[in-house]
Amino acid sequence: METDKINQAQQDQACTQQQKGELTRRRNWEKRMEQKRLAAIKAEEEEREQQRADEGFMGEAIRQAHKAAALGDVPIGCVIVRQGQIIARGYNRRNADKSVLSHAEIISIKRACKKLGDWRLEDCTMYVTLEPCPMCSGAIVQARIPRVVIGCMNAKAGCAGSVLDLLHEPGFNHQVDTRAGVLGEECSGMMKEFFRKIREGR
Ligand SMILES: [Zn+2]
Repeated sequence: METDKINQAQQDQACTQQQKGELTRRRNWEKRMEQKRLAAIKAEEEEREQQRADEGFMGEAIRQAHKAAALGDVPIGCVIVRQGQIIARGYNRRNADKSVLSHAEIISIKRACKKLGDWRLEDCTMYVTLEPCPMCSGAIVQARIPRVVIGCMNAKAGCAGSVLDLLHEPGFNHQVDTRAGVLGEECSGMMKEFFRKIREGR
């Protein structure tokens, strides 16, 4: 009888320990789920904030592009941003300068390098209204720009994935993080409008 009681007590204890273990496991699981949920909310907020910032700087690149159009050049604009500040602006001046080197990105890279006193633009983001050409993609890789935000793609000359993918070429020692389609419709609309006016012999 006495032994039975002891057995029962031991069983009870084992049972409570098992329940305790399950409870702890469940609490830990709930804690992990809550942490995951909060992390997902934070990531979403950061993504929205990034999106807003990207659109703001792309808006400035678009303003630059309009300057090109005013000179009769294809409307392509660019800004380079460092620590939330625009450090260089540029727009396409190929016709105005009679030079193929006068692309918006090259002009902006030159200005940013001059401002920073360095050929490396390692902590900068470039915003450009049109997918960069081979020359500008080469300069972006050379300058080690880590991130490029693109307005609209350029099926005929783009080198961020359209014709070639120089910005993500694994064989190079530098790959670029890109985001395309930021204010994309506005950027492509601006180009279409420019060429429509030319066709109509404005
Ligand atoms: Zn170019």
